[in-house]
Amino acid sequence: EFACAAPEILKGEYSRNVGPNIDAWSDMQPIGVVAGITPFNFPAMVPLWMYPLAIVCGNCFILKPSERDPSSTLYIAQLLQEAGLPKGVLNVVHGDKEAVDALIEAPEVKALSFVGSTPIAEYIYSEGTKRGKRVQALGGAKNHAVLMPDADLDNAVSALMGAAYGSCGERCMAISVAVCVGDQIADALVQKLIPQIKARKIGAGTSCGLAMGPLVTAAARDKVKGYIDAGVAQGASLVVDGRDLVVAGSENGYFVGGTLFDKVTPEMTIYTDEIFGPVLCIVRVGSLEQAMQLINDHEYGNGTCIFTRDGESARLFCDEIEVGMVGVNVPLPVPVAYHGFGGWKRSLFGDLHAYGPDGVRFYTRKKAITQRWPQRASHEAAQFAFPSNG
Ligand code: NAD
Repeated sequence: EFACAAPEILKGEYSRNVGPNIDAWSDMQPIGVVAGITPFNFPAMVPLWMYPLAIVCGNCFILKPSERDPSSTLYIAQLLQEAGLPKGVLNVVHGDKEAVDALIEAPEVKALSFVGSTPIAEYIYSEGTKRGKRVQALGGAKNHAVLMPDADLDNAVSALMGAAYGSCGERCMAISVAVCVGDQIADALVQKLIPQIKARKIGAGTSCGLAMGPLVTAAARDKVKGYIDAGVAQGASLVVDGRDLVVAGSENGYFVGGTLFDKVTPEMTIYTDEIFGPVLCIVRVGSLEQAMQLINDHEYGNGTCIFTRDGESARLFCDEIEVGMVGVNVPLPVPVAYHGFGGWKRSLFGDLHAYGPDGVRFYTRKKAITQRWPQRASHEAAQFAFPSNG
């Protein structure tokens, strides 16, 4: 819908009579061939952040979807072809590093949009910019929710159940750390979460009425279980353990049940690393300032939120937190299409966010045109002196 507003978003700027009989305007022109490299976890949505805007801005697009789930991309490409998109405007190539490296090296590709893990985002940003390409590379995350002592606890619990365990925790905006300000709210949170986590219906994604499915691969399952083992070994308190879950009828599925750790401390790997699974860590702090320091010290800065009834705390949090997308009583503050999506710190390499007005800026280059049409009758001498507004 946002890309369909192309006439509005591509209008440019215009100034009349910047000098005698001279007008100036800016034109937003395509950059040429653009490539997108996308992760497995949102196989339709993340590519759709990219190519609709790139195409309405006048570019041709090459999409390299995740090799783990490329079929939705092919299906949408087929629909676009049926709708009459000219051949060669949207292209899909499959593969992994080899295909990505070919796109980075191709001189015809003028810009790269990437979404995936931080090490690959950094690699694509440095290799792409080294070759003079425009690059926006969105990386991984560790998103914290701060629970203030005055928070509406039932609202926060229901929000956390969705934000920590929805999509099996396999989303870059998942909340994986709950920072509780004071032991009272931490104890109450743990007590309310335990029965809800245990009651979650987990099963094969083909069944209805489930709250959670399996992880994407056996390797992802083993990685998540490895982090839970490490959390126990490093001294965190394991309150709900999802490691031994077996789903009847899907005994070989890559399942991990909802897992909850309490009394997690900042040096533990379950705190420092992106686990990308259904694991929520509770960290206990004494004040909002300590909570904010913790978040600001973390290498990632994708999303965060605060649960509170106090406007002053919420305002301070929004002003001072070093994170790109912030929610107030909203656990997954994913911006709507006409705003733009992007984190801070090591969650985004590049200057422009994905989609929204930044997406239009990323997929266009500005041309400034200054034009003079002297009046024939006057035969006046041309004046180009600057400044022209004196
Ligand atoms: P990934 O980094 O493994 O893969 C992403 C893409 O990079 C894939 O297309 C893959 O083929 C390619 N790739 C993988 N290894 C490569 C290499 N060595 N060289 C070049 N290309 C390579 O990520 P994933 O596991 O598919 O997705 C999960 C990650 O994506 C998580 O870290 C998650 O936080 C992140 N993510 C971020 C956002 C965001 O907006 N910031 C959104 C969704 C997912």
